[in-house]
Amino acid sequence: MATLAARVAGTRRLLASSLGFLSRPCSRDARAPIRGIYTTFTKGGAGAGADGGDRKLFCVVGSGPAGMYAADRLLSHYGDRARVDVLERLPTPFGLVRSGVAPDHAATKSVTNRFDAVLADPRVAFLGNVALGRDVSVDDLTPRYHAVVLAYGAEGDKTLGVPGEDLRGVHSAREFVGWFNGDPGCVAALRDAVPRALSGATSDSDSESEADPPPRGSGSRSTTAVIFGLGNVAVDCARMLLRDPAELAKTDVCAHALDALSTSRVRRVVMVGRRGSAQAAFSPKELRELLGLPGVEVKVADPACMRLEPEDEADLEASRPRRRAREAIVKALTKTEAAEADEGDKSRVSEKKTLEFRFLRSPERFEASGDEPGAVGAVTLRVNALRGASGARRAEATEATETLSDVALALRSVGYVARPVTGEDSFKSYVPFDPKRGVVPNHLGRVQEQVAETVWQVPGLYVAGWLKRGPTGIIGTNLPDAEETVGSIVEDDERGILRRPDYRFKGKGVAPLLRTRGVVVVDKEGWRRIDAKERERGAEAGKPREKFVDVAEMLDAAAAGEPEKATA
Ligand code: NAP
Repeated sequence: MATLAARVAGTRRLLASSLGFLSRPCSRDARAPIRGIYTTFTKGGAGAGADGGDRKLFCVVGSGPAGMYAADRLLSHYGDRARVDVLERLPTPFGLVRSGVAPDHAATKSVTNRFDAVLADPRVAFLGNVALGRDVSVDDLTPRYHAVVLAYGAEGDKTLGVPGEDLRGVHSAREFVGWFNGDPGCVAALRDAVPRALSGATSDSDSESEADPPPRGSGSRSTTAVIFGLGNVAVDCARMLLRDPAELAKTDVCAHALDALSTSRVRRVVMVGRRGSAQAAFSPKELRELLGLPGVEVKVADPACMRLEPEDEADLEASRPRRRAREAIVKALTKTEAAEADEGDKSRVSEKKTLEFRFLRSPERFEASGDEPGAVGAVTLRVNALRGASGARRAEATEATETLSDVALALRSVGYVARPVTGEDSFKSYVPFDPKRGVVPNHLGRVQEQVAETVWQVPGLYVAGWLKRGPTGIIGTNLPDAEETVGSIVEDDERGILRRPDYRFKGKGVAPLLRTRGVVVVDKEGWRRIDAKERERGAEAGKPREKFVDVAEMLDAAAAGEPEKATA
């Protein structure tokens, strides 16, 4: 018997087919011959289509690395025939390059030079401040383009699922990164919480754990930040908390974050991993940078956790990056021991900050601070043991627990999660979504939907980036990923099954609809004005840029000087 979801999907398809754009069933191997019917209600053939010529109209939703590489590849393949509308929910482009890369990684951000060139291309239109699900639905888009590429990334995060996770001071690393990088939503969410946590308002609680002596130095109200997860995002967060603020001042870190970090009482950052040093996800280069921060002492809370079982040895043997990362930790620990043996250095210990690893620990519960109602003050950790074969080592809880007190900030950095398209009208905004994997189901970037035993290709809809493959990989990973998706579009075009835009929309894409709806669209010129203003503000403060962190401010800057051009 068909499930309710399958019946709803079937009804949806029936309605869609009555309008003339029937999904086509396809084999899991998209290269297999096409079966079933594919029709459109458009006039004219592919290549001499509704847009009045041989032009191909594409829409890319999201201007982060996945979206910009997809636009770039479409331009490369179709040359002068391509026109690409890039939709972006914020008035500013480049997604995680702007709001996800740490401010002290300027070299990584330089990829924006390439993306700037793509955006400046006359074949590309930037439609900023346009959110899918708020201003337009997918069904507004697909009839207007030959292909729509969803590349809006992963805007949610995994939770730990333990009591007390809703206390103030317990936040996602994604939000924390967005906070210091000026993502308007994250800045608004953490505006009060993080400065209060960093200022140490909850640091008067006493540690009762033998395993956890109070880290305060010479009567100062120092306090602890805990980060759950051992990936590169966790490393970025730890580095931002431990780096000398004077160094950060030269970067494009936002002023509000620099203020809070400059007066931070956090002297100890604890990185907690549910598995061991042989299974950590961070890259050796990123880890070495963290371990080498001046004035930071590296510790492992329970040195027994550094012991390796034969399965762990095999894990390390199988992965050079993991081997290098572990070697870097061992080296840093040796350095700490040598420094502690040095009397002169010991006398300066209280001035130092501490980076502490707690391997084989999982959060059990967060507890409120005794001094600050509603704010976190402590976290109880469950001690784990590793079980299973090499390559599949898993953490299993033991009887033992320990408590970290004096905690003012706890960040969960256990992975991002993509969200389905949402909107007022779920029928109109419907896009298949796999909540378990947190991706839009696809084959080589072609959006697919399974109903009963049949897998359907959704016409006109493609996907790229984290929304396609899950939240893994560096910025550069998005280039081959986008090439794959654009390859599927090109192949579908060659087979004559690319969707054709409805002739009624005159090849103009979605811009006229946005005008009709009164959406304030920030175009390329608007973005250039925001960019110029941010650079100007930065120059005054001796940094590359001072970002706007509020959408209204961004819209004002986009409109300044030439208000009539700020809207499309
Ligand atoms: P990640 O690399 O997947 O690391 C996630 C970490 O969270 C792992 O240590 C994982 O441990 C842990 N974890 C997952 N679920 C957990 C749970 N329920 N309880 C406890 N721990 C849990 O993710 P990420 O750090 O968010 O990074 C995302 C991607 O962006 C990665 O590919 C990363 O390399 C990339 N990135 C790169 C840079 C850079 O190159 N500078 C910077 C930032 C991000 P297990 O291994 O036990 O699952």
